[in-house]
Amino acid sequence: MKYCQRYSISLIFSILVICCLNLPGYGQEEYKDPKNKALSEVYTGGPFYQVQYFVLQNAKRKPKNIILMIGDGMGLAQIYSAMTANGGHLFLENFKNCGFSKTYSSDNYITDSAAGGTALSCGIKTYNGAIGVDPNKNSVPNIREMAEKKGLKTGLVSTSAITHATPASFMAHVSSRGSYEDIAADFLKSNIDVFIGGGVKNFEERKDGRNLSRELKDKGYQVIYKISDIQNVKSGKLAGLTAQEHNVPMPERGEMLVPATQTAIDLLSQGKKGFFLMVEGSEIDFLAHENKTPGVVLETLDFDRAIGAALKFAASDGETLVIVTADHETGGMTINGGDYKTGNVVGKYTSGEHTGIAVPVFTFGPGADQFTGFMENTDIGKKMMKLLR
Ligand code: MG
Ligand code: ZN
Repeated sequence: MKYCQRYSISLIFSILVICCLNLPGYGQEEYKDPKNKALSEVYTGGPFYQVQYFVLQNAKRKPKNIILMIGDGMGLAQIYSAMTANGGHLFLENFKNCGFSKTYSSDNYITDSAAGGTALSCGIKTYNGAIGVDPNKNSVPNIREMAEKKGLKTGLVSTSAITHATPASFMAHVSSRGSYEDIAADFLKSNIDVFIGGGVKNFEERKDGRNLSRELKDKGYQVIYKISDIQNVKSGKLAGLTAQEHNVPMPERGEMLVPATQTAIDLLSQGKKGFFLMVEGSEIDFLAHENKTPGVVLETLDFDRAIGAALKFAASDGETLVIVTADHETGGMTINGGDYKTGNVVGKYTSGEHTGIAVPVFTFGPGADQFTGFMENTDIGKKMMKLLR
């Protein structure tokens, strides 16, 4: 709810600014008309990074490491708007194995991020709002916990609060996604090696008076608040908490997701038995809820660059499976115009909420061929578990 409030304030501010400046083409009447939301629907930033293409080296038959990358709310239109904005290319083009995930939850055709995250992490369909529990509210083990039990290193990275539904699904077991302080407390019960995201508040300003950051330090974690310091960590356990709640969206956030992903890979790959890492591009969803194409594009491009970092490691490692998917689509987005030369994109939306359409699945590395065609979102969780067994 907090980001909704923040956007409401910035929306009112934007309208005030537009009224005062009387910008050509973005008059007050147009902005008010839901059929002509020109200001929010058009991205005009242009292309800005070079995509690299990787060759998988010395590929093994089975993966030792799994990197699961979740673009929250990232359907094909979100991906293609970013691809258009970047001159027609994304790191995602490296993936040759593609499929589709059916995202419905146990109680709703349209999932939320809690049930969607739990499908991917635990391999079960559950009700909207559930984190790591089944429809009867019983705890179900998740892929990160299984990896941890097997002696693999594990990590979570998100741009949202690390206690938000998606990363929480790989850590906690609570009947309601809003129990942020309970979710934060579950980090202390685990043996996770690296986590980087927002959510300081849920660790340090708690109703029960506990200071979980101090408890993490006592357990041997380096608790670090700035991304510039986080990326200097070369060994040991790391808790990176870079915002009180969610990190601000792009472009204000700056470099956070890519260095966080790189740092997590550097630390986790020091283990002998392999690792499991989940990386979330959390805020594609936030901006898609607001039907703001520039935000959707910038968040998806940021996520794609994080995918590039994962691919670079996986291509030379040969034992790492990279899976990129979404928990659901947000906004019912489509693209009604674009230009590869200028990078301009015209996004259109059918909703301010999540939608029921299937989302793409991309895989690279050992085991990649097992994730093609149509599949249940739960199959992704189940297949990962099978591959790590
Ligand atoms: Mg999320
Ligand atoms: Zn959402």
